[in-house]
Amino acid sequence: MVPNITEAEAANELMRLAKQIAKHDRLYHAEDAPEISDPEYDALVRRNAELETAFPHLVRDDSPSRKVGHTASASPLSKVRHEVRMMSLDNAFDAEEVEEWVARVRRFLSLAEDEPVAFTAEDKIDGLSCSLRYEKGVLVRAATRGDGQVGEDVTPNVAHIADIPQTLRSSQAKSSDASESVSTSLDANGEWDGPEVFEIRGEVYMARADFEALNARLMDDARAAAEEKGEEFDPAKVRQFANPRNAAAGSLRQKDASVTAQRPLKFWAHGWGAASDVPGATQAEVVRWIEGWGVPVSPLFARFDSAGDVLAHYETIAAQRADLPYEIDGVVYKVDRLDYQQRLGFVAKAPRWALAHKFPAERAETTLESIDIQVGRTGKLTPVGRLAPVLVGGVTVTNVTLHNRDEIARLGVRPGDRVVVQRAGDVIPQLVDNLTRDEPRPEAKMPDFSRCPECGSEAVAEEGEVDVRCTGGLICPAQRTERLKHFVSRGALDIDGLGEKTIDQFFALGWLESPADIFRLKQRREDILALDGWQERSVDNLLASIELRRHQLSDRPRGDEAFDIEGAVRIDRFLFGLGIRHIGIVTARTLLKEFRFLYDVRDFAERARAGDDEARERFLSIDGIGPAVVDSLGDFFHEEHNVQVWNDLAETVFDDGQPPEYKFKIQDSPVSGKTVVFTGKLETMSRDEAKAQAERLGAKASGSVSAKTDLLVAGPGAGSKLKKAEELGIEVVDEAGWAKIVAEAG
Ligand SMILES: [Zn+2]
Repeated sequence: MVPNITEAEAANELMRLAKQIAKHDRLYHAEDAPEISDPEYDALVRRNAELETAFPHLVRDDSPSRKVGHTASASPLSKVRHEVRMMSLDNAFDAEEVEEWVARVRRFLSLAEDEPVAFTAEDKIDGLSCSLRYEKGVLVRAATRGDGQVGEDVTPNVAHIADIPQTLRSSQAKSSDASESVSTSLDANGEWDGPEVFEIRGEVYMARADFEALNARLMDDARAAAEEKGEEFDPAKVRQFANPRNAAAGSLRQKDASVTAQRPLKFWAHGWGAASDVPGATQAEVVRWIEGWGVPVSPLFARFDSAGDVLAHYETIAAQRADLPYEIDGVVYKVDRLDYQQRLGFVAKAPRWALAHKFPAERAETTLESIDIQVGRTGKLTPVGRLAPVLVGGVTVTNVTLHNRDEIARLGVRPGDRVVVQRAGDVIPQLVDNLTRDEPRPEAKMPDFSRCPECGSEAVAEEGEVDVRCTGGLICPAQRTERLKHFVSRGALDIDGLGEKTIDQFFALGWLESPADIFRLKQRREDILALDGWQERSVDNLLASIELRRHQLSDRPRGDEAFDIEGAVRIDRFLFGLGIRHIGIVTARTLLKEFRFLYDVRDFAERARAGDDEARERFLSIDGIGPAVVDSLGDFFHEEHNVQVWNDLAETVFDDGQPPEYKFKIQDSPVSGKTVVFTGKLETMSRDEAKAQAERLGAKASGSVSAKTDLLVAGPGAGSKLKKAEELGIEVVDEAGWAKIVAEAG
């Protein structure tokens, strides 16, 4: 289907798809923690392909269609370059697509109509692809697929997988026909005389029962560890694996192979890579040799003389699927004759001679009754379709996620539409088709993405992002407890005795409507004391640690306590604790070093949002501050609810309602506290090094010259900045002059 959208829309969507798919690739492959189901992922890839076909000139350099899997760079394991690339497979989703593939194969080989083509077929296991390199029958290296060209070295890890022999077996190999035996790979002396080099390729996987047992064990271990440390056990925090595939990947890709040793991994072979010699003329023959060497292959592997028989085998496997001890997601077909495979070769990242026939998800038709918006814990607005209840694969479905605005537009859905719903495995059902999109129908009420339905705050999307978020983080009921927890967390206010459980409990009691309420808890001393598990001492400790923070934030020592800038919780952590998007602790500190006063940060952010370019420039000239920070601050203070929370906090925490100046230790040097700008070419050091020197000396390195600049360090080729500095009468030195300042400061 050619998408009915403009070129600009397509370009935009392709950009987002590239980002999204890259993100999901990373989650799936590098972190073993997918957020979406495989069918959802496939839908993204297909949409990308559809748009690229319709707008071939818009194919991006970073298009997902140009990549295979993830890159191995983020891994702690060492890298291995595959001698023969590990390919991925093209997918088919129905019999028609399989028949088209068979026809393409026949056309490519120019076969006469009556000339037979045989295929192999085997179940496609959901595991982690692995290449095992045997030299003279001895395992010398095992590597994951990685991006297809470079994988990760998992040799020590596979040593613990019983299905992967360290030495290939000396017994007789079986041929594809069980009645006929072929010669062994050992000569008369019992020496290996199979191929010198042979890379066996297959999947490392985890059986369903082992997966469930592993997750149960992870839970038990976490509980035992918590008990030992005397901590409260929170099952929600135990990291379990989402599915057997991720369990297998997470277990194999361990820096510490002894962890792998405790995981029940299995392996089977389905092909080969580099080989000094291939023992056979067909796929089936070689696979039987591999089996004869002692490496398991799928028990459902078989060879067929026609495409019709292959499709019949698919149905047989599909019928057994639920009862198999492992998870599969389709059937893989390969052209049997190796000379045909050779001729067919590859397109892009997949061989022409192989195809993965995926199992369909279960589907049903129903009516979309309304579209609501749900707000997640991070403030993300997600549209949810409410359905007339319908049975899909034996389960009644009443809700589907619609992901975001783009998805609604893509499907063209409105309340009242007839839609197709799909369910695959245990994942949230998907809305995959709109049957009434081209019919005239009355206007319907569409969801409003401009406001949060929970709290009424403005909702905004960041540039280039499709997700819309509520900006009322501090008052939004959907986000409130999360924000409170962040506010008192270790990196922010770090309030002793105010853990997550306590926040939840106090919140449920209505004692923590907003962050300022934390500082009003002293009025509830008796109420807290009346709760289970609280004693005089623990309540007083809690209230004391809250008061301590109040004093520190106000920059006011208590009694004889010497004020310690390093140890105290200061307004940088207060700013960080507000949970404004993109304001991490480092950014908060950078902002305060520049502005000194919290109110100035707010004031300039509001001005920047209102279109004051000078205010915006003031932010952007700070090293490490980008447009996302400015926008995010502006959005935060533009939201009336946040301003209320801010004012309430300021009045409750700070002495006269005014946060104090941010003080930080600066080194005593001729340039401490000054603003330095570097321009032109530096000969003895990089620009980054020069900036770091300046910061070490207590100076602030800025990117642009203004009236606030104290010193310009100008190398050869300095242009407009030098001119401006001279106009403003700012002190200018060359690189040697700067070196002298640095030397004097010691
Ligand atoms: Zn909200």
